[in-house]
Amino acid sequence: MTRVGFGFDLHPLVPGRPLVLGGVTVPSDVGLSGHSDADVLSHAIGEALLGALALGDLGRHFPDTDPRYRGISSLALLTDVLALVQGRGGRLVNIDATVLAQAPRLSPHLDEMAKRLADTLRIPVDRVSVKAKSPEGLGLLGRREGIAAMAVVSVEV
Ligand code: MG
Repeated sequence: MTRVGFGFDLHPLVPGRPLVLGGVTVPSDVGLSGHSDADVLSHAIGEALLGALALGDLGRHFPDTDPRYRGISSLALLTDVLALVQGRGGRLVNIDATVLAQAPRLSPHLDEMAKRLADTLRIPVDRVSVKAKSPEGLGLLGRREGIAAMAVVSVEV
């Protein structure tokens, strides 16, 4: 059986934090706030992986009240999520993800994000698609109050 999972995440942008997306630190005057490294792209992918097998969301498995997850690399969370999926007999086939960010320009970094995600999730990089979309100045994303990400994954069980 092939199953599909969808994930969405959104984090606020604040001064004094690094901007980490797909495990890559992108040069930026502001970064995402959150309990972990707030890597919104990795979180969306993790939510999609859990969703494919109806295993709930990241907050259920990695509560932000747990000091173990404070400042943790979200790639480490993805490694744990992958183990959960594999433990249920799941095999990740591919990822398609979009980051919604007004700034900075992400296109120079998308290949590196795909590579880091592919390495972490142990699939060939040609099965990881990372795209960036500008919100065209609209709404909270356009005002640079936050960055959002969406991801779809397919998992063979
Ligand atoms: Mg998150």
